[in-house]
Amino acid sequence: RDGGFIARGYDAALDETRSLRDESRRLIAGLERDYRDTSKMANLRIRHNNVLGYFIEVRPNQADQLAAAPGPKGEEKFFHHRQTIASAVRFSTADLADLETRISRAAARALATELEIFARLVAEATAPATAAAIAAAARALAWFDAAQGFARLAREADYVRPKVDASLAFHIEAGRHPVVEAMLRGAEGAAFVPNDCDLGSKRETEDGGSRLWLVTGPNMAGKSTFLRQNALIGVLAQIGCFVPAAAAHIGVVDKLVSRVGAVDALARGRSTFMVEMVETAAILNQAGPRALVILDEIGRGTATFDGLSIAWATIEHLHSVNRCRALFATHYHELTALAAKLDELSNHCMRVKEWKGEVVFLHEVGPGTADRSYGIHVARLAGVPEAALARAEEVLGALEKGEKADQLSRLADDLPLFAAAPRPRPGARGTTEPSPVEDALRTIDPDALTPRDALDLVYRLKALLPKAD
Ligand code: ADP
Repeated sequence: RDGGFIARGYDAALDETRSLRDESRRLIAGLERDYRDTSKMANLRIRHNNVLGYFIEVRPNQADQLAAAPGPKGEEKFFHHRQTIASAVRFSTADLADLETRISRAAARALATELEIFARLVAEATAPATAAAIAAAARALAWFDAAQGFARLAREADYVRPKVDASLAFHIEAGRHPVVEAMLRGAEGAAFVPNDCDLGSKRETEDGGSRLWLVTGPNMAGKSTFLRQNALIGVLAQIGCFVPAAAAHIGVVDKLVSRVGAVDALARGRSTFMVEMVETAAILNQAGPRALVILDEIGRGTATFDGLSIAWATIEHLHSVNRCRALFATHYHELTALAAKLDELSNHCMRVKEWKGEVVFLHEVGPGTADRSYGIHVARLAGVPEAALARAEEVLGALEKGEKADQLSRLADDLPLFAAAPRPRPGARGTTEPSPVEDALRTIDPDALTPRDALDLVYRLKALLPKAD
């Protein structure tokens, strides 16, 4: 609305009005010079404010002299008084008022011209034919933008072209996490450690491994990073970008489902554990054989055995019902016993080295299981007081001694292999076995019912409902 948005040189008429407006300073300065000469007052000044507009100002003791002074061409009563304030007396002249009017007209005209030009451009841009052309050009530019962004990233960050096909492969060689890698590159010290991942089933591909990887390892060892980097590589591959790896072969993923605890919904009235379970439910209900599932710790928000059993059942379900490619990070080392029973499950762990009583994280994923969580070690790094740490070690020692080591591995043997397959509960929603109510309904011919029969029927159906627990 304030103008000033049309460039000089676009419209000659606009340029002319504008220069008239902008010349005002020069013209005013010229007037000021003339008035100083004729009145012989070197300190006479022409000033401007929003109330009076332009005015001539002199000191109070010069007011009478100016009021009596002739104009530059000898005009009588040339300067009229406008205002007296403590420090100055203000005058105007017909010429000054005239110039002011011309200036403000020019400014108004310049603004009106600009707004007209703008309206014309808007009408041109929104005319059906032009609008379509502009949108097409914008789309084309967006494509170029995305493509050049990918290309540049691929070259600068050393990405490779993934092979994406209709198989169920997920074979990543020396994969990296694009963001963690970039951050480590910026910082001094350790470089990012690339890791392989292969979720191709041995049944599908000759060199395949297992569809489900159980990743154990201490806190801070890099489990989350590993899980997320593989999910990100999958996404990048499918949006047409090269990927941060030495090689990648990915069978199209139709759904990427994750539980990574990135958001907290406390404000929405759900506890952390509830959110975890809602997400887990969504995964188990939705993931099909083409899905890629990333589960970063489940069951941590509840009592140990409670959580362990949920995690346990979730793995069995993923393995035998969802049958999808999945990475599952956990602290429940007990879960690693499942690998002996589930043929598409394999154990992997983050390597650590103990050196002079210190734990060194190698950030390397290897086969096998982690034996400890090093939680107390991480607590020490985080600054938990020494007294509390010592006490924690005492308690841990006592707990470990008290644990019946074989108890959980026996549990693995006891559990039926496909316990996770849905066992229909009669009458439950989604199961195939019809309930007594359904059976009864099926035998009814509604057209043959009298109103009295219909009422009786409602009572009979109600009686057939299972008793509420
Ligand atoms: P966890 O989930 O096992 O607790 P994170 O994945 O959160 O561990 O990793 C902890 C930190 O370790 C990360 O913030 C990162 O700085 C570093 N890290 C993780 N993976 C790697 C890697 N492959 N190479 C180098 N540093 C890594």
